[in-house]
Amino acid sequence: MNRKETIFKAVDTVDQRQLEFTSLFQQKTRQSKESPIPEVCGLSASGRTVPIHRETGEETAHKPDTAANCKRNQMQRKKPISSNFATQTRNDSVIRETSCKTILNRTRISDYSLNCYTGCTHSCIYCYARFMQRFHPHPEPWGKFVDIKLNAVEVLERQLRHAVPGVVFVSSACDGWQPIEAECKLTRQCCDLLIKHGFRIEALTKSSLVLRDLDIFSGRNARIGVTVTTLDECLRRLWEPNSSSIEERFRIISEADTAGVETAIMFGPLLPFLSDSQESINSMFQRAAELAVDVIWVDALNPRPKVWPSVASLLRKKYPDLLECYRQILFDRKTRAAYLSELRHSVTQAGTNFSLADKVTLCF
Ligand code: SF4
Repeated sequence: MNRKETIFKAVDTVDQRQLEFTSLFQQKTRQSKESPIPEVCGLSASGRTVPIHRETGEETAHKPDTAANCKRNQMQRKKPISSNFATQTRNDSVIRETSCKTILNRTRISDYSLNCYTGCTHSCIYCYARFMQRFHPHPEPWGKFVDIKLNAVEVLERQLRHAVPGVVFVSSACDGWQPIEAECKLTRQCCDLLIKHGFRIEALTKSSLVLRDLDIFSGRNARIGVTVTTLDECLRRLWEPNSSSIEERFRIISEADTAGVETAIMFGPLLPFLSDSQESINSMFQRAAELAVDVIWVDALNPRPKVWPSVASLLRKKYPDLLECYRQILFDRKTRAAYLSELRHSVTQAGTNFSLADKVTLCF
């Protein structure tokens, strides 16, 4: 029986398997004091109706879910992008200058989050931040636009007069080191300011541009993390077309470690039947062990809003045989439970194989 058959046949007995499965990682996940993984890179949805911050698209948890807030969110959703912003097109992507009212925002996934851009030209197929278009409607598809918050540094300086120092997650609804950051340097300037004001930076990126900023993170209260969904460069190009290569991401970890910066790797979302086999996970963990990474997260592909059409489109073109499998894994409750149970088992095994169990946190 192959792996697909095992998962789909296991559906009948999954409830029992889940009851029995209380691995070390599951216990760790409940007990962990680590910040959970960001929305865009794998945090599981709560499924509840909660206030959403319009700058970040995140659940804020710090505002009551009042009728007034809901009404305001509805009005904001309908507000189209201003036509006054300077606009240009580069490499098929539309770049707009815009402004923000706040840049350091309270969030459920950390103390604060910071996003100097709306949109992300890394164009990952599974990007969970697609739902941002609900709050910031754009004529272009996700991955084909980026708004630059030109006043980010000034707004942060103003906010820092009153903000209580804490952990800042960079970035939760975009990649702070996407290509436009090479010119704008907004993420760099904001991180520099935050560190000088006693905040801790926890960065997660798919871009080697972050290495430019090692000087401000080195020896400071900061952690640099990279996301890795596969070790197969062909798959990476398909699923994360404009991001740095896998080897460049591992180089980030290596150089950050050498510079005395804490490191993290987010293995996820693991792609069902493409990058989630025991062999694939073992290979990923082997690299993490070799790099002596400080923290490891692992996440599954999650059925987040607006993700399925993009994933399905790629599968239809490149992996038509997997289309129905993905649909069931994402949307059929029992199949998903069987799949996640098997994935937990594989991750647990790999953690044991490479003596990484105490560094791993499951996000699913
Ligand atoms: S790198 Fe950009 S496009 Fe890719 S998942 Fe993160 S925010 Fe989305």
